[in-house]
Amino acid sequence: MVSFKELGLVNTREMFAKAIKGGYAIPAFNFNNMEQLQAIVKACAETKSPVILQVSKGARNYANQTLLRYMAQGAVEYAKELGWEHPQICLHLDHGDSFELCKSCVDFGFSSVMIDASSLPYEENIALTKKVVEYAHKYDVTVEAELGVLAGVEDEVSSAVSHYTKPEEVVDFATRTGCDSLAISIGTSHGAYKFTPEQCTRDPKTGRLVPPPLAFDVLDAIMEQLPGFPIVLHGSSSVPQEYVDMINQYGGKLPDAVGIPEEQLRKAAKSAVCKINIDSDSRLAFTAAVRKVFAEKPGEFDPRKYCGPARDLMEQLYKHKIINVLGSDGKAE
Ligand SMILES: [Zn+2]
Repeated sequence: MVSFKELGLVNTREMFAKAIKGGYAIPAFNFNNMEQLQAIVKACAETKSPVILQVSKGARNYANQTLLRYMAQGAVEYAKELGWEHPQICLHLDHGDSFELCKSCVDFGFSSVMIDASSLPYEENIALTKKVVEYAHKYDVTVEAELGVLAGVEDEVSSAVSHYTKPEEVVDFATRTGCDSLAISIGTSHGAYKFTPEQCTRDPKTGRLVPPPLAFDVLDAIMEQLPGFPIVLHGSSSVPQEYVDMINQYGGKLPDAVGIPEEQLRKAAKSAVCKINIDSDSRLAFTAAVRKVFAEKPGEFDPRKYCGPARDLMEQLYKHKIINVLGSDGKAE
């Protein structure tokens, strides 16, 4: 048993309370390799932004949970080395799907876990979430739960269609489970293909897809039911066209990839939405930078020469999100 406190990590409680009061959102960035983590820590240390480092089940399988845990611990020390005196870094399990997985993360030094039982019937979702909350709270680990179903594919999590969260269920759910934050479904979606062309309109000038707007009426109704309660948005990458274009220009094939416009996320960040998950955008940045090096320097075979530029581009992306979308810069001096 290792407490997250020994590792210099923090849970989400204070982070979220401040974010709701301050009208901004905490970035939740997924990581599964060193370059990604370096980019996240550098971006957050330089902007003094609190951050949630997310590990999915897929990342655990890919990178080994022990290594990831020590990497998160290393991230705290690296942040200090970069001159960030009091790093506000949370290590969070993304989409935990069983009590056992959540428990093992709590026991292993995570400061926050998500139990995603949203695919189960309502009462079963409550029962499983409550069980995780009861265990996690004993160790001051915070718990994110989910109500409603997001469309899209992310690691093992996938669904063809979305079901918006029902505002009439949220009070009962939050009260009976005791969860600390709630992931809701209002039209965001996992992956780089968040909407089919049929769901979108096309910009006549650029020919690009314009996605349908998020259901802010559902968000408003949820906030009315649960005033001041921390809300989480998953699947909130914007799929920047510049990266998609770069990937396609250098031999990739991502036709009609589409995400959530940043304008809508900016609006959400000012509300009770206090955690916004971004994963696909950094995957796109990484891939775009690597493809460019491969295309322009076919003789290059030192991984540092293509992972380095990938790291730089991800760092730029993270800073942009922090400063221009979430507004979390300067919130963790
Ligand atoms: Zn998610």
